[in-house]
Amino acid sequence: MSDCIFCSIVAGDIPARTVHETDDVLAFLDANPLSRGHTLVIPKAHAKHLGDLDEDVAGALFAAVTELTPRVRAAVDADGANVGLNDGEAAGQEVPHAHVHIIPRFDGDGGAPLHAVGGERPDLSDDELDAVAEAIAE
Ligand code: 5GP
Ligand code: ZN
Repeated sequence: MSDCIFCSIVAGDIPARTVHETDDVLAFLDANPLSRGHTLVIPKAHAKHLGDLDEDVAGALFAAVTELTPRVRAAVDADGANVGLNDGEAAGQEVPHAHVHIIPRFDGDGGAPLHAVGGERPDLSDDELDAVAEAIAE
């Protein structure tokens, strides 16, 4: 997509600090890192949502994230990492090209776990939980 910043990085029109590349996937440092080593892993083909990815590309993306997470952690001597993807504007997605964040974490860094991304916690009855599980499983 011509007006997509991450497609421009894939095309080489915008520079990036690339750390990993395959036929389907590119990984590079985040330009505005939340921590030292903050890395983005993207499918090369434009797709906004995780659910838009072809199955083989989704597999390649997850394989790259699995391979890179320990490498990123080791490179910056991190104590842990948060791995996540903002899927849609409501979830905080700003760049409309799917990307997985690998965010190295350090003891006492003042950050928060992924649980902190949720809003107010819903108080769901057993029936409501059953209905949600059923809807997802369908
Ligand atoms: P989102 O909120 O969409 O999940 O995250 C977008 C991420 O992309 C942000 O962490 C932001 O710093 C990063 N980003 C935005 N533009 C660029 C860019 O041109 N180059 C790089 N390397 N990262 C970018
Ligand atoms: Zn794109």
